[in-house]
Amino acid sequence: MKQFLLLTLFILSICPTKAQKLLTPKEFLGYELGDRFTQHYRVLDYFKHVADVMPTVELKQYGESYEHRPLIYAVVSSAENLQNIEQLRINNLRRTGLVDGGINGEKTAIVWLSYNVHGNEASSLEASMLTLYELANTSNAKTQGWLKNTIVILDPCINPDGRDRYANFYNQYLNSPPNSNGDAKEHREPWPGGRSNHYLFDLNRDWAWGTQIETRQRLKVYHEWMPHVHVDFHEQGYNSPYYFAPAAEPYHEVISPWQREFQSIIGKNNAKHFDEQGWLYFTKEIFDLFYPSYGDTYPTYNGAVGMTYEQGGGGFGGLTITTKEGDSLTLKDRLTHHHTSGLSTVEVTSMHAEKVVTEFEKYFKENINSPTATYKTYIIKADNNTDKINQLTKWMDLHDIKYGHASTGKSMRGFDYQNQSVGNFTLTTDDVVVSIYQPKSRFITTVFEPQSNLVDSVTYDITAWNLMYAHNLKAYATSERVNVNKTFQTKSAEVRPGADKPYAYIFKYQSINDVALVASLMKHGIKVRASKKSFSLNGESFEPGSLIITRRNNENMNEFDKSVQQIAKDLNRKIFTSATGFVSKGKDVGAEAVRYLKPPKVAVLFGEETSSLSAGEIWHFFEQQIRYPITQIGTDYFDGIDLTKYTVLVVPEGSYKILSDEEINRISTWVSKGGKLIVIGTGLNAFAEKKGFSLKNYVTEAEKSDAEKKEKLAKEKELLTRYEDAERKEISNVISGAIYKITIDTSHPLAFGVGNSYYTLKTSDLRFAFLETGWNVGVIKGVAKPVQGFAGKHINKKMDNSLVFGVEEKGDGNIVYLVDNPLFRSFWESGKMIFSNAVFMVGQ
Ligand SMILES: [Zn+2]
Repeated sequence: MKQFLLLTLFILSICPTKAQKLLTPKEFLGYELGDRFTQHYRVLDYFKHVADVMPTVELKQYGESYEHRPLIYAVVSSAENLQNIEQLRINNLRRTGLVDGGINGEKTAIVWLSYNVHGNEASSLEASMLTLYELANTSNAKTQGWLKNTIVILDPCINPDGRDRYANFYNQYLNSPPNSNGDAKEHREPWPGGRSNHYLFDLNRDWAWGTQIETRQRLKVYHEWMPHVHVDFHEQGYNSPYYFAPAAEPYHEVISPWQREFQSIIGKNNAKHFDEQGWLYFTKEIFDLFYPSYGDTYPTYNGAVGMTYEQGGGGFGGLTITTKEGDSLTLKDRLTHHHTSGLSTVEVTSMHAEKVVTEFEKYFKENINSPTATYKTYIIKADNNTDKINQLTKWMDLHDIKYGHASTGKSMRGFDYQNQSVGNFTLTTDDVVVSIYQPKSRFITTVFEPQSNLVDSVTYDITAWNLMYAHNLKAYATSERVNVNKTFQTKSAEVRPGADKPYAYIFKYQSINDVALVASLMKHGIKVRASKKSFSLNGESFEPGSLIITRRNNENMNEFDKSVQQIAKDLNRKIFTSATGFVSKGKDVGAEAVRYLKPPKVAVLFGEETSSLSAGEIWHFFEQQIRYPITQIGTDYFDGIDLTKYTVLVVPEGSYKILSDEEINRISTWVSKGGKLIVIGTGLNAFAEKKGFSLKNYVTEAEKSDAEKKEKLAKEKELLTRYEDAERKEISNVISGAIYKITIDTSHPLAFGVGNSYYTLKTSDLRFAFLETGWNVGVIKGVAKPVQGFAGKHINKKMDNSLVFGVEEKGDGNIVYLVDNPLFRSFWESGKMIFSNAVFMVGQ
């Protein structure tokens, strides 16, 4: 194993003589597990201790969190397996086909236990120490027996920043003795809570998208092992009994019969141990296997039996809390349950190790040789924007998905993502071809298939996430098999400054990388303009939004040419130059239509009442994706802030009591004087129907006239819903994440660089009327029908003719209304262009 150590392991010193005695967590920490919340660094110390003294435990650091906490995992098995661990690891990868070569040796199962992805579901980190101890303890005959044919990987904390945020909070407010009354401050975490990571992302929604540093580093080691069983430890409301597999419907149809069957086998084994203790539990409810970005579905779509285990407790739990039955639930109880289910999973996997490995191998053989999905090949056209292609190929690299080019072109039939119909198209040898005849076959299907077959629409999360729509790509899905014969050739930007000292530098504006260029130029004090109209120059045509940097505005700058060229090179941007301001077609460089982009001074509302997820998405976007500075302003002191210091105010999704009439007035006045307000999603509710804002709630005429009659009928029908169908009644009023094609006004700056079509991900039933005074830049025109995903029939109808993105001009300022959150989970790539335009292009 040491051969593939990639990082400097500053927390791990390899101990040459493993002579010390193995200490229990209590002996090591000086207190009983469950007596307090252990800080992350102490857990690392304990893992290091165990690895130092036990030859059966190896420890590795695989990265660090945004706040620089180490991310680690331990590998535990028999001494014999540990000596041979590298061979066992390679053997396993060979079984998947991700690595070539013959397999030799025993069938050894691999169980991966992931703890504390949600930071405030804090008992599982404590459980990880006890589980590690019992697996390492050579006097425990049971565990030592299991480890003869099983390797266990423990990641004690996927989300250390969130975990310490919670533990630090709790330890500060803890009463002595602990107060089990849920009203006590110690049970009430302040905003944003410890669930998320540094940028307030939910890491249990990020496995497939890999937008966060913790996820990307984990995916890398995950692919070095490819476990057979993966458990993601969670907590839920403290009144709920324990939950374990089998999962609830819907299951995605790519899930194999064995994956279903083994979930049940594992569940029954857990049940046996819980029954012995008289502990309550439930299975087959709530937690489904559909959305591909969870810690259970992602492993499942990658060959493992992936499961979520949920203990009651969570952020409210503390050291002890009184449940609705009047019982006390303690941290000790919670960690003991997670410890028991973890060991039980290792036990049952060991009992079936041979079968587990055989089925795992079969899963990948099917993927490579006989995938059953309808669409066998996905084709991404070469004439898409190069950045967009590269973003997708980079994403595929993260998941070990193979792609390339066909050796010959031909005419084919397939599903066209740009118009949602089946038709003819020509495959060229430059197109990117993704065949599902490969190890990642099933996973590929879940992210690219034009329609996911949702067996049951009651799901826990969004029902559509297609990356072809998220990246807005010209692409096809075909049922024909196309072989990849040539390795992918990336088209890199030609950085070719024409003249040494041109009249102007020109850049196209088509992707988020181009936005990063704008941000960087502005940060360097270089004055940038953008053309509102298309134009042609030197035989090249430029779309609206194209960036122009003239010598004239920047003549006082030192080393102007060198700076522009260096920034373009760093960001791999293609430079066009012009020796003249006289264009061959369209508006000249000096024309009114070529607007100076004033660098925005951005303030973002942040804190209590904002959605932490939305606030975090905005923060991450500016800081990690385009690297442009922002100032986050706490909602608790927003009313005392001088808004004239900022030119842009972003209001994230949220439910705002602080935006009183007085505050709305203040913002309205600031906008009139030249400010730009950008409001996202539910944040719009604070401004709808308010004086000074033209945003109106949307009620159709038909609804108005029919409203009473229909409501009465519907009410009666609902009143007669059987009690057991309550959940189903609710879903006809729900959009749980569906994709709609919208009509977009490409001439408006809010749509620059977006292209001629746009797909929006609707994650709620929020709806507003077309703006009567303003620009309706993105709308659902006519009948609303999702191109993918589930939308309840009642609510979908109400989306007909509704606003998606709009801009209101007001005095010298602007208001940008973004009804659908374009930064949702940061994976909707084309939405980032809309948001960037709101910040940099609108109102300039
Ligand atoms: Zn959770």
